[in-house]
Amino acid sequence: MHIPALLPDELLAGHLHRVASLNGLESGFKAALMIAEMKTQHRTTCAGRTWFEMYAETCGIDAAHLVRAHTLVPVMQLVVGRGAPISYGDPTYRVREKQTHSWIVPRSSLSCPECHQEDLAFWGFAYLRRSAQLPGIDWCMKHGTQLQDRDAEDPQGVPAILSVEEHRYGEIFGALLDLPRSIPIAQASKRVRDRMRALGLRWRSNAPATSISEWASALMPPSWLKRRWHDFETGQRGQDFDSIHSTLKFPLPTSHYALALTVLYDSSEEALIDFLRPLDDDELAAAAEVAVARGYHRRSRSTRVVEGSGHKILVSR
Ligand SMILES: [Zn+2]
Repeated sequence: MHIPALLPDELLAGHLHRVASLNGLESGFKAALMIAEMKTQHRTTCAGRTWFEMYAETCGIDAAHLVRAHTLVPVMQLVVGRGAPISYGDPTYRVREKQTHSWIVPRSSLSCPECHQEDLAFWGFAYLRRSAQLPGIDWCMKHGTQLQDRDAEDPQGVPAILSVEEHRYGEIFGALLDLPRSIPIAQASKRVRDRMRALGLRWRSNAPATSISEWASALMPPSWLKRRWHDFETGQRGQDFDSIHSTLKFPLPTSHYALALTVLYDSSEEALIDFLRPLDDDELAAAAEVAVARGYHRRSRSTRVVEGSGHKILVSR
């Protein structure tokens, strides 16, 4: 089986598609299965190894690098609800591999016509890039060109006309794609909540102030919201978005966090510095207390809850 080297920013799903074409297989998924079978047959020590580890070995690269640099896992799991942050590619995240199928079959196949032409001139073929598959970004961050479906006939390089906010959304999302590990939900909610509070937005339920979805609707171009968020103003997405500062159990999609940071800050740099700052000990204790009060905190070994005089107090061991 011929397996070519992964190229810069190449999406794993696109690489599998290339492997399939080069080896006369019907799909990238089939190629993924064959590589797993091949590895399982030739080794007796496969038990416990993930498909990613096997594939990384086949490609001659580190498994963590494969996940971080060639999949959308960092985007799909930016904020995590429970436990310690996930280092993308480390063994603790094996439990999530049941979702592997969605990582090896592309959810979209967008590409930039200018990158396409450059690839043809340099490599002799074009490949699918990870950075062209981010929700809400339908322009190439290198060329500023509208992305098109990979299978579009005669793709034309049409310049994307972007507002300052769309551009900032792209910058923020692009930076989130390169993080080495996930962010705890308590940190994400707290950083967003503090900023909303500072701006006078509704950071407590039922307070008579502008909600973050109303704020976003006023700032982002209506055409972008309509194209990428469909029912944002009236539907479920807007309702979900309005819980972004208070949710401590169920993380929202990464695009929601990218949008929140886009509309809460004037500069992407300032937004990222704030959002990525880990909680200090006092903030952690306060977040744990709220989670216990809401009844969905998994008590860790290092803390226990003392019930008394109507209060729940967290005590460190
Ligand atoms: Zn491009």
